[in-house]
Amino acid sequence: MSRLEIVLHPHPALRWKSKEISKIDADLRTMVEQMFELMYEARGIGLAANQVGLPYRLFVINPTGDKEEKDQEFVFINPQITKRNGSETDEEGCLSLPEIFGPVTRATKIVVDAFDLDGRQFELELDDLPARVVQHEYDHVDGVMFTDRVPANSLKKIQPLINDLETQFRNRQKEGLVGSDDVLQARLLELQKARTA
Ligand code: ZN
Repeated sequence: MSRLEIVLHPHPALRWKSKEISKIDADLRTMVEQMFELMYEARGIGLAANQVGLPYRLFVINPTGDKEEKDQEFVFINPQITKRNGSETDEEGCLSLPEIFGPVTRATKIVVDAFDLDGRQFELELDDLPARVVQHEYDHVDGVMFTDRVPANSLKKIQPLINDLETQFRNRQKEGLVGSDDVLQARLLELQKARTA
């Protein structure tokens, strides 16, 4: 398996509605290990499979961002948010939109169930930051970016930065450093077939 890397807006993986994983094996465990490494390197607290170009319903979090705090690491495979309560607005950022921040309203408390890397189902009740991180990552596996949820007046302020990222990505495609959208989408479809039902 080639080394994963975090993809930036507007990579088509970020708009992919990912499918449920049907197979947990050694390769998937390696992917998850790499996702944690990439997340810590980038000083993030959550990372979704879509953000490393994998079209799977999978994400990892560590709300402390501290790789020494292993008991704060969680892997969510085929997650479902089953309850949402309350609402709170706070600034969010995203490793796929570096240096860009905006206010997002999220549920304060959630209940989420998912499978872990041993294929065991678990349920967590989360609030505050962990609840926000899970909702943000959960959006990623549906192809939703936090900027989709930023109110229009705030979005206007960060739109130039988003446009800059877009220009950089399109230029890299023109230079052949990144595949065309068609090529990238074909790869996503191939990866999807390999591991989803
Ligand atoms: Zn994100």
